[in-house]
Amino acid sequence: MQERRRDSIKLMETFESQEKINLKGLTLPELENLVADWEEPRYRATQLAAWIYGKRVSNFEHMTNLPKRFRAKLMAEASVSEVRAARCTASDADVATKYLFELANGDRVESVLMRDQERTTICISSQVGCAMACDFCATGKMGFFRNLSASQILDQFTAIERDLSREETVTNVVFMGMGEPLANYDQTLKSVRLLSDLDGYGVSEKRITISTVGLAPRMRQLAREGLKCNLALSLNATTDGVRERLMPINEKYPIDEVLDAAKEWAVATKRKATLEYVLIRDVNDTDADAKRLRKLMNRLPCKLNLIPFNEIEDSDFRRPELNRIERFRQLIASARHAAPVRFSKGHDIAAACGQLRTDFGKPGIRMSKAS
Ligand code: SAH
Repeated sequence: MQERRRDSIKLMETFESQEKINLKGLTLPELENLVADWEEPRYRATQLAAWIYGKRVSNFEHMTNLPKRFRAKLMAEASVSEVRAARCTASDADVATKYLFELANGDRVESVLMRDQERTTICISSQVGCAMACDFCATGKMGFFRNLSASQILDQFTAIERDLSREETVTNVVFMGMGEPLANYDQTLKSVRLLSDLDGYGVSEKRITISTVGLAPRMRQLAREGLKCNLALSLNATTDGVRERLMPINEKYPIDEVLDAAKEWAVATKRKATLEYVLIRDVNDTDADAKRLRKLMNRLPCKLNLIPFNEIEDSDFRRPELNRIERFRQLIASARHAAPVRFSKGHDIAAACGQLRTDFGKPGIRMSKAS
């Protein structure tokens, strides 16, 4: 009997969530279409966007400039999604805080809040897991489960932001959490637009970075979007042989092609692309690599981020010694090329680059080397 009761409650919840339309993740034109369907004046859409995105309000009762009748309709037919952290772990000295979110369907993703003197950055996930199977990345080892919707991407942002003090604002958003953002192109772009819209969350486009393994056609598409966000390409090797071993995607889009695509993006947007290079001991950290990398960098307007490898489970890769990292940096640094070394924050809580992983008990879909 009790079982049956629980089932019927479950059914009701499903029914309710299917019936109600989630307004979070809708663009202003989409909100305009919706209010037109409801025979409301167009400016109601602007009012809704101002409440939901500008003021981060999700309770319709609090939207005081909307007529009571309209608020009642919204309560009956719409919702504004929110997610609460299932777990939140702070690193030493609070430089990084890792959030674990459990989505409505039970999927789990992680996001990271990082702070230094100048910036408050949220590192956001775009997928549950990742199919790219990069050998040095914990998310790559778990495989791909699902794309996140724009609202699920934005939910991570609002939940973390809610934890900040009144004086602190999020200055930067990086799509460097779980997943390959350009493999979930439409929802990623939608969330970038909503984050940076004046009617939206108001994060400057120039302070949003999409990081990619190098899906060349999507990088070229991004070049034509008219967005001022940053593009970071995870290069991670200077020869196709090594890159292929680290990143199976290199078989499809080799170094020449991803650099050409990054160049096309840089030329079209008049911005420098960022090349990311994870330094792995005895794999891609030799003097010859540094010299080749410097040469590759001459091919496009770019800057470089050197990321010392963060160790992960089930991997024999190691971080180079400090003096090797420093020598590599010096070989590249020149008047033309800055080569900052970015030690990831949150190493002690497994929140650093490439360490995000949620346990599903079974492997997801992974790109194989032969595919
Ligand atoms: N899929 C995207 C974004 C997620 S990874 C991409 O590949 O760019 C974000 C960055 O972390 C990438 O530059 C990646 O090369 C780096 N990274 C992955 N695993 C790492 C590890 N174990 N140590 C250091 N950096 C890592």
